[in-house]
Amino acid sequence: MVDAAHDPPRGPDLLTRLRLRRFARWRHARLALQLPVLVLAAFVVVDGLTGRPLAPRNVATTAVWLHYRGLVVLALLVAGNLFCAACPLMLTRGPARLVKRWWGRELRWPLWLRSKALVVALMLAFFYAYEAFSLWSSPWLTAWLVLGYFGAAWAIDAVFPAGTFCRYACPLGNFNFALAAVAPTQIATVDPAVCERCAHKPCLHGRISDEADREERWRDASGALRDAIDGPRRAAFVPLAAVTAPNGAGRFPGCETGLFVPQLASNMDCTLCLNCVRACPYDNVAWRLRAPWREVVRDGWRHRGRRWALLLGVLLAWWGLLNAFAMVPPFFATAQAVAAALNTRAEWLVLALLYLGATAAGLAATATVAWLADLAGRGRAGAVGPAFDRWAYVVVVLGVGFWVAHYLFHFLTGALAIVPVFQHFFEYRGLAVDPNWRLAQLVPTRWLFPIGAGAVSLAAALALVVTVRVALRDFGARGLAAMWVVGPFVVAVAVLQVLLLGLPMEMRGTLLGPLMGAP
Ligand code: SF4
Ligand code: SF4
Repeated sequence: MVDAAHDPPRGPDLLTRLRLRRFARWRHARLALQLPVLVLAAFVVVDGLTGRPLAPRNVATTAVWLHYRGLVVLALLVAGNLFCAACPLMLTRGPARLVKRWWGRELRWPLWLRSKALVVALMLAFFYAYEAFSLWSSPWLTAWLVLGYFGAAWAIDAVFPAGTFCRYACPLGNFNFALAAVAPTQIATVDPAVCERCAHKPCLHGRISDEADREERWRDASGALRDAIDGPRRAAFVPLAAVTAPNGAGRFPGCETGLFVPQLASNMDCTLCLNCVRACPYDNVAWRLRAPWREVVRDGWRHRGRRWALLLGVLLAWWGLLNAFAMVPPFFATAQAVAAALNTRAEWLVLALLYLGATAAGLAATATVAWLADLAGRGRAGAVGPAFDRWAYVVVVLGVGFWVAHYLFHFLTGALAIVPVFQHFFEYRGLAVDPNWRLAQLVPTRWLFPIGAGAVSLAAALALVVTVRVALRDFGARGLAAMWVVGPFVVAVAVLQVLLLGLPMEMRGTLLGPLMGAP
């Protein structure tokens, strides 16, 4: 049943406006996006394992830590979660299906893991490992990280339903989902009335046509695939005669992360795979423009495990600050002070304490401000949980701004280096290529701080818009009192972020020394 109260975005449909619909409905559209990234991943692994172990000259470290991260945030801001759309890890689905066929079974993902809890734990482990093992400076470790990623995606999707890895285990994808909260696009319906009449909901369950159904019956009779064709895939059978916008016969998978297009309220868990576009027999799926505050002022994550998703977004905001703080001089003074206080020289311990401290302090600050804002808005004390659910979106937005500023800083200082790094790849293997190492920065150094500060300021302005709208939505006239709690907090965090961007920053992954963000 379609949620009649749901209010989908109504902005222009980019699939139609940009004439992308035909491409999006093509059966191999995603493969066409994945193959170039797969080739790039192959370069990363080959150079990481066999190339020169110098980070600024190796494809692995420059492509992964400078370019990939910068392009991810740019794409998220301009269009949406394009990197999940082109994710080559999903090419492991084919080999994973083979394992399932051979095994004849598929396990259910444990109930207690159906939240973002595992992702939060993996992200914390990743950020810790990033500093502890200086991943950005090791092509070898970077290559193994990429290989490990492919192995984990394959192993999880070989045992559990497709999409389990993306939704519950992938730190990269969930980083993108969280930042896509302010992306200017979202999947939505073309006409909600068509969904009301749609019997099979193929955008969710997938679509099996007559031809594929015959094939499945034959296989079913053989007994080999009985488990694989039971359940939801039976519900996905759509007679070809009922398909009003045919784009081929056979099997079209539905949404593997369990999203139902007519009820979509956010980009959380949407990989922009466009399976729904291809599966819908009525061509009723759009990729719409929307206001960047739309998702966060409408509690968009309420049906996607709200509390854990918000914890993920909030922790990303505070870990983002710590991640950048680890590159500026005061960090080393802080680490030495902690080491002296504990009388230890164990770096791993100091780093672990700093990460746990930042995690606890960030959560405590968010929960305290949220509780005080609710107290001001309601005129009486309430529970921390609902207050956190209400105001955490403000911190998520602040976090997006800082990640964008941070990753853009690295990207803009080393974007053009990808050319000599690739030239060096071939030179190192005996080809007559002369790398042009003068290519590096994309913009003059004096622009870096204004760009970073601009990104942070825009995010702070957006966070203030969210503050006002949430306060008025939930507290009416009393919302003004709540704004006087959250507003100064937003400004204080933004000032802290700008100050951090202005400090001399360690130039990881480039040949430069510490670079002042300020002109
Ligand atoms: S398959 Fe198409 S028409 Fe049916 S519910 Fe999904 S989006 Fe709506
Ligand atoms: S199938 Fe699901 S994940 Fe893929 S684009 Fe559609 S809603 Fe997003």
